[in-house]
Amino acid sequence: MRALTIDEHGDLDQLRYRDDLPVPELTASDDVRVRIRAAALNHLDLWVVRGVPGVRITPGWILGSDGAGVIDAIGPAVTSVHVGDHVVMNPGVSDRTCEYCRTGDNPLCLAYGILGEHRPGTIAEYVVVPSANVLTIPDHVSLTTAAAFPLATLTAWRMVVTRARVQSGEDVLIRGIGGGVALAALQIAKSAGARVWVTSRSDAKLEHARAMGADETLNEHTVDVAREVRARTGKRGVNVVLDCVGEATWTSSLGSLGKRGRLVTCGGTSGPHVQTDVRRMFWNQWTLMGSTMGSDAEFEAIVGELRTGRLMPPVDSVYPLTAGREAFARLESGDQFGKVVIDVAEP
Ligand SMILES: [Zn+2]
Repeated sequence: MRALTIDEHGDLDQLRYRDDLPVPELTASDDVRVRIRAAALNHLDLWVVRGVPGVRITPGWILGSDGAGVIDAIGPAVTSVHVGDHVVMNPGVSDRTCEYCRTGDNPLCLAYGILGEHRPGTIAEYVVVPSANVLTIPDHVSLTTAAAFPLATLTAWRMVVTRARVQSGEDVLIRGIGGGVALAALQIAKSAGARVWVTSRSDAKLEHARAMGADETLNEHTVDVAREVRARTGKRGVNVVLDCVGEATWTSSLGSLGKRGRLVTCGGTSGPHVQTDVRRMFWNQWTLMGSTMGSDAEFEAIVGELRTGRLMPPVDSVYPLTAGREAFARLESGDQFGKVVIDVAEP
């Protein structure tokens, strides 16, 4: 089968299109095999190419966490889907038996693995996953849109709904609009009734975000974000900050956070080490939270939103599988607004 792979870590020159890989077989009785039609890129894919501490790959490693396609084969114990069903995949695979899974915290599973990072990925013609990792989607949702949906929306849903518990009327500041998680968070926070603030270094991205419903836009090049937030809120600051940028934004994120504020982080794309003044944290009674991926219940919730069309991911661009390196270069550039998708159906 065809796939986008790496043999070792490094820069994007390591990416290699292959058409000689074996089609994966079902191993467990509740496995399903999905014929992938579209896959989508996430920042995680760049980390995998460069190398993630503690994660080992084998040569011919198939990249990609997000994918959508058609059920091609099912194990004897599978009852939830049938051959021919259109499905979207949950990129996180858990054992669904440990104490974390049993209490609805699949991302904390002791055996947790993500497609493309710990297991063969989605930028391939076929992927085998447990049946609990796929949910059906109706024909009116395109497989390109569906592929662009899971990882970013699942991550954003857990941050906004489960962790920050954003309420109607609250002020929510989202750092670095344009990436998949930030855009999904914008849509989810707006539908919760929040007043949403977004930041970017690009006026074009801020304009796009405003068209999607952002209430307040801040260009990080031209304004001091924390000072501007305080000025526009009568010194109160915002209720919630969503920050997955890390080093470059952390200080001004905290500077924007009001009393009893909650900050949720899902990553540090600009660097991992941040500084927090503990005196401001206790005095303002902040809650600083981590979040990653989402549970099976959260996956069901977001796919419900996709089925009805209430949540649809913006797609930046679509590349054929043979142009996988160009797709990764687009992601690495940071110029994209929305998801970069790879069309796996086209050679
Ligand atoms: Zn578990």
